[in-house]
Amino acid sequence: MKTIKIKPDKYYIIHAGQVWEGAGSSGLLQNCTVTIKKGRIERVSTGGLKTEINDAQHDAQVIRLPEITLMPGLIDCHVHLAFDSQNLLKTVEEWTTNPAATRSRIKQWMQDSLSSGLVALRDGGDLYGFSLQTREAQKTGQLEGPKILSPGTALYKKGRYGHFLGPGIETLADAKDQIAALAEQKVDHIKIVVSGLVSFKEYGLVGKTQFTAEELRAIVDTAHRYGLPVMAHASSDEAVSTAISAGVDSVEHGYFVKDATLKQMAESQTAWLPTVAPLGNLLTAGHVPYPGANLDVIRRSYEGQLEAINKAVNYGVLLGIGTDAGANQVYHGKSYLDELKYYQKAGLSNEEILSAATSASAKIVGMHEAGHLKPGKLPLFIGVRGNPLQNLNQLKNIEFIAYI
Ligand SMILES: [Zn+2]
Repeated sequence: MKTIKIKPDKYYIIHAGQVWEGAGSSGLLQNCTVTIKKGRIERVSTGGLKTEINDAQHDAQVIRLPEITLMPGLIDCHVHLAFDSQNLLKTVEEWTTNPAATRSRIKQWMQDSLSSGLVALRDGGDLYGFSLQTREAQKTGQLEGPKILSPGTALYKKGRYGHFLGPGIETLADAKDQIAALAEQKVDHIKIVVSGLVSFKEYGLVGKTQFTAEELRAIVDTAHRYGLPVMAHASSDEAVSTAISAGVDSVEHGYFVKDATLKQMAESQTAWLPTVAPLGNLLTAGHVPYPGANLDVIRRSYEGQLEAINKAVNYGVLLGIGTDAGANQVYHGKSYLDELKYYQKAGLSNEEILSAATSASAKIVGMHEAGHLKPGKLPLFIGVRGNPLQNLNQLKNIEFIAYI
């Protein structure tokens, strides 16, 4: 695999067999030249290497990828960089006893993510803000990898679900203070835990909704006043509907969401990250996550989620890709393709899936200059063999990555 970190002061000429420019473009362009100038895609032309470019740019770095199809880089809208998908409890303990171990694992996961074609990761938070620290370390050049968007810690109601995601709040005043402090740390978004977890013992059971509609609206308004979008962990139809009414920007998980609420989601243009992998990967592995958990219950919840995704597409919901990487059996980077395949099982076309993975996810994470391989956009793209629009498995082997 060839990885190139694009430098803003350098000129690049990339010759590629084919290019998929992203959502809305019809099929693949053939025999392409992509040029990058001042950290932006300058042009995408067909018809092979142009001599005028060669003559004009003596110092250009020329990259020849005649067998490769270039396409916009992939974006994961929901990860937890601080979580280990194989042993969450152990990592949580290690955050305090051996934080260096967590940091070195994160370094590995950043690599795993990049080599899986991911150019940006939106984190869902952790108690000690490891993802925010990682973002900062990246800024100073200590760490390479996908761009990280971090909420620092998450907001949740003390005594309810979420103790490893943030310090917890008791009152609305606490919430406002916490948002102010996070804004001070220049977080990229606010993560709020609206409901509890989905039960794997009893079908349809979800931990209690943590906030009233009024509380939630006040919290969302506060975040928006700081210019921060809100990603909301919400499962159960009631929690999802409450979150949408409160004006959150994206609903995370959203298990057991009903038709009317999906329509509400579409009308309000609230984004949805249905995170199928935390259920689907348990089923694939035949892994019973805790004593008493029942794989049949998980299977029913999983199947319901696939049905809801199918409906969401028909209703026009803005659907991105979020894996919840770090959850049990959901691996950083490697599990991204699993999530894409669940969308395939839900009945989406490969083009719909790849559009969700690129431009829709770019929109959801607020990276409006990513998601397409077109002039003026950021040089965040990947290369694979063959045609990923025909076969998603081409994404198993990422051959080329350009990132910033
Ligand atoms: Zn999560």
